[in-house]
Amino acid sequence: MTNVKLYVVFSVVLTFLGIVSFWYLQSYWLLLGVWLFRTIGNGVVGHRYFAHNQFTVGPISRKLFAYYTTMSSYSTPIYWIVQHLHHHRNSDLSTDVHSPRNGIMNSLLLWSFRPSMITSVFSDRSSKIMLIKASKEVDVLRASRHFYLINTIVYGVIFFISVELFFAWAASYVIELVKYGTINAILHLPKFPGNYRNHSLSDNSQNNLLIGFISLGFGWHNNHHADSKKLDLQEKWWEYDIEAQIGKILSKILRF
Ligand SMILES: [Zn+2]
Ligand SMILES: [Zn+2]
Repeated sequence: MTNVKLYVVFSVVLTFLGIVSFWYLQSYWLLLGVWLFRTIGNGVVGHRYFAHNQFTVGPISRKLFAYYTTMSSYSTPIYWIVQHLHHHRNSDLSTDVHSPRNGIMNSLLLWSFRPSMITSVFSDRSSKIMLIKASKEVDVLRASRHFYLINTIVYGVIFFISVELFFAWAASYVIELVKYGTINAILHLPKFPGNYRNHSLSDNSQNNLLIGFISLGFGWHNNHHADSKKLDLQEKWWEYDIEAQIGKILSKILRF
């Protein structure tokens, strides 16, 4: 990945913009709606579709998905494919850049603001192979390369449509950062209150009722680490997987 430092600076700017936006935001219903749009772009499309191929869509929809994930601002399709699969291969080892074993604050947030951490992921041999493979797809590469431009345009267009919408869009970025920080840190901590496991794995991945529900199913994290190809993570009756239901609907309607 090129421009790692630029990516970090850009993420810091979006974070400050998001924090400031909370002060001016008036409609929390608008924030909820905007956040749902953004979190589907990250969790369902970026994570489940691009990183894990848990469901399929048609070829045009796949191209559109590349831009949808990118404009959701957490990361690019290539970043999801390379960085996130690195986490699954190295889960809770010293090489896992966001394992709480390597520092809780680092796991919560700081790793994503440290260029050396991101560079280490992309220096891994398997990551390099993944990067070459993913880069062969034109729209995945184009959307990933133009992460800054696409997001700058999206933020700018939203600002001109409605300032209130802009505050909601900017603030929802921070919610996503908190969501992923919580999953990376809390859901890899064995003794955190509310955590439990359905599978005894070599890593420390956990499920958590509250986080599982709030994260729309991403938080059935031990189930996910047990079988990362599985779309519906529900194993117990309370482990309802909203993201999986969205993935199933998208797979049915996006056949073009
Ligand atoms: Zn994990
Ligand atoms: Zn995953």
